[in-house]
Amino acid sequence: MAADSSCPQCNSVNVIFSKKRRLHVCEDCGHSFDISPLNLA
Ligand SMILES: [Zn+2]
Repeated sequence: MAADSSCPQCNSVNVIFSKKRRLHVCEDCGHSFDISPLNLA
């Protein structure tokens, strides 16, 4: 169970949470998003 946040754009798991911006930022593609991991079935 390593399903924390993953980038919805590139599926990278190298995602950090920016407290300043209150959103998640992908370190690989730079995409930022404001969602928790979606458990896509
Ligand atoms: Zn990404």
